[in-house]
Amino acid sequence: NRRVVLASRPHGAPTEANFRIEHQHVPVPAEGQVLLRTVWLSLDPYMRGRMSDAPSYVPPVAIDDVMGAGTVAIVEQSQHADYAPGDWVVSQSGWQDFALSNGKDLFKLSGPVLKHPSWALGMLGMTGFTAYMGLLDIGQPQAGETVVVAAATGAVGSIVGQIAKLKGCHVIGIAGGAEKCRYAEEVLGFDKCLDHHQDDLAEKLKRYCADGIDVYFENVGGKVFDAVLPLMNSKGRIPMCGLIASYNATGPSAGPDRLTPFQGAILRKRLRVQGFIITQDYAHRFEEFFRQMSQWVAEDRFVFREDVVDGLDNAPETFIGMLEGKNFGKVVIRVAAD
Ligand code: NDP
Repeated sequence: NRRVVLASRPHGAPTEANFRIEHQHVPVPAEGQVLLRTVWLSLDPYMRGRMSDAPSYVPPVAIDDVMGAGTVAIVEQSQHADYAPGDWVVSQSGWQDFALSNGKDLFKLSGPVLKHPSWALGMLGMTGFTAYMGLLDIGQPQAGETVVVAAATGAVGSIVGQIAKLKGCHVIGIAGGAEKCRYAEEVLGFDKCLDHHQDDLAEKLKRYCADGIDVYFENVGGKVFDAVLPLMNSKGRIPMCGLIASYNATGPSAGPDRLTPFQGAILRKRLRVQGFIITQDYAHRFEEFFRQMSQWVAEDRFVFREDVVDGLDNAPETFIGMLEGKNFGKVVIRVAAD
């Protein structure tokens, strides 16, 4: 059983030295347990937070503990009445080949999703759920409104933009590089996508959001947010989903005071800015999401790009790259053949 453990806490951007690959015996399930074999491992930006011991909404990964993660796994052996060998499940078994579970954290997969089990970590799983709830419940987009989404070709952003298009909105994406922007326009169907690596981001955003911005789905923070804020319309909504631009920061950002203009805009424009953590705020609505999204997927209304990397050993390098924008689509590691 290979497993990737946290060897040390990163200072700034993580490096491969922060991880260690270990080999252990495959565990044996006791009464009431199942043995899971990981097939797909989800890599997500929130894991950067778990590597750090700064206060957060959940405790960090302990040093020498296996890195946590959502996985799609096959039940290999079962001592649990509700699971049989061969069942596919979503679990939280982390960066390892095998794991035991008592069944409480498992979600059994059945039906059409089994054609693409890895989608249960993306469009039909945690990241799609984040996009759906953040946009619809907090953003509340109305037809004709302008929705801006950052990290627009990523796991969350690509779904946010496509749902906003379904709702009849004018959708502007922001992404890193010409290729991602072209993809957002030509394949995802966004009205426009702007490259945040270009110096004229603020100027172009103003041009393409001629009626201002009604909903800004925040995934990154930093200079992207600086470009968006002056364009927010009165009564605009900002679902505060992620701030990836600062996940590797070692201190406060330099430069002029941004807090005062931000507070001023919230007040004068009566903005609604709401942070949310999908697992903590919306777990009770997962079924509603899953039903609706499964229907949209069955109707072929969504494009979902995955960035598939083979081999658990490549997880650290792939994770480090994701925090730098090297991924193109939802990052999943194919740990084993199914
Ligand atoms: P993505 O698949 O979008 O991958 C991360 C992307 O972030 C990169 O590809 C890169 O895209 C972008 N990025 C990285 N650094 C920067 C930067 N400095 N400035 C601008 N963009 C940057 O990841 P996810 O879709 O899984 O996650 C998106 C966000 O949503 C993250 O902030 C994540 O933490 C958050 N999240 C929050 C949840 C919640 O419950 N609140 C749940 C799930 C995700 P590009 O090259 O286009 O810049």
